Amino acid sequence: MAEETVLSPDIEFIRELRQAGGETLKKCYQCATCSVVCPMSPEDKPFPRKEMIMGQLGLKDEIMADPDIWYCHNCNDCSKYCPRGARPGDVLGAMRQRFIKEYAIPKFMGSIVTNTKMTLFALAIPLVIFLVVLGLTGHLHIPEGKIVYSHFFPILYVEAIFITLVGLTGLSYLISLNKYWKTLKRVNGTDYKMGFGDAFVETILEFLSHKKFTKCEANADRKNGHLLVFYGFVGLFIVTCWLTFYDYIMGIESPIALSDPMKWLANLSALSLLVGIMIIIANRLKDKGINTKSSSFDWTFVTIILLLTITGILTELIRVAGVRTLAYPMYLIHLMFVFYTIVYFPYSKLAHMGYRALAITHYKMTGKDIK
Ligand code: SF4
Ligand code: SF4
Repeated sequence: MAEETVLSPDIEFIRELRQAGGETLKKCYQCATCSVVCPMSPEDKPFPRKEMIMGQLGLKDEIMADPDIWYCHNCNDCSKYCPRGARPGDVLGAMRQRFIKEYAIPKFMGSIVTNTKMTLFALAIPLVIFLVVLGLTGHLHIPEGKIVYSHFFPILYVEAIFITLVGLTGLSYLISLNKYWKTLKRVNGTDYKMGFGDAFVETILEFLSHKKFTKCEANADRKNGHLLVFYGFVGLFIVTCWLTFYDYIMGIESPIALSDPMKWLANLSALSLLVGIMIIIANRLKDKGINTKSSSFDWTFVTIILLLTITGILTELIRVAGVRTLAYPMYLIHLMFVFYTIVYFPYSKLAHMGYRALAITHYKMTGKDIK
């Protein structure tokens, strides 16, 4: 006798997916064109057709355990060729947004950051923290003399806030990643053809070159913007670490001289971020003849990165111009976007880096990876 399978549809989950940008889900009539044209789809258990069925049926648990939603690189070749305009690429994007919320620890942070209606509230949290700290320590005023940001907001306070909160959210992210890794093993089995170390190193090398982006057809020009943003962040991370070294080991206080190589790297990284994010925005606005659209979650993230970059550049320019009354408030606003980007990392679109890295690593270990 055939084995009986009991499905547990989650109606609320279907509603959430549709609200998050997957409103075309119901249009799919299962022709499988998308799975055929997808450059990332493996022969064994191809996607995204099966995800469209799972979405239509509201199979939340199955989707939350599905590595393919992270193996998808959002190129939208599938949406271009879908004869029903069901936009499977967008539906998978909505599934990833829902996934980040589902795996978030604590849950309420996922609910705040993935909900675009709460973005202003999410931005207000760091601003209130900063104002309270400045008020309690007697720094809530514009300092006299040369503009030095640490005279307004001492480095020690900035570090205490950021290191504590990044430490806590970073730890929660590691727990979420570990949970996902266990799910990957449970769902896909452990018949490995490759060890974790080798597969992970290969994955990181692919990240550095964005090799998989070259497989996309409809959205191929997204690669350059993505690469510039990626390396912009890498550069700024190096500068931040180096400035800590300058401050604590070498006793060199910020702002460092414009002639310092670290200043060049900081400015180049900011430029890389700015150009990269402009390319990404232009690419999203361009009519590529694809029946697809970016979700408000995507737009919020892109806007935050744009504002982070612009306020960072303005913070430096206004300081160099010597306008004290503008420089310090701008610094505070910039710190607010820095906070959003790094403290909220596990709950924002940036969280995709870890989940996707694990999904690709597992694909490689099981021999499913598309070279
Ligand atoms: S999403 Fe479109 S291409 Fe894919 S199975 Fe459904 S109707 Fe066909
Ligand atoms: S968006 Fe691209 S990678 Fe993702 S399922 Fe569609 S074709 Fe495949």
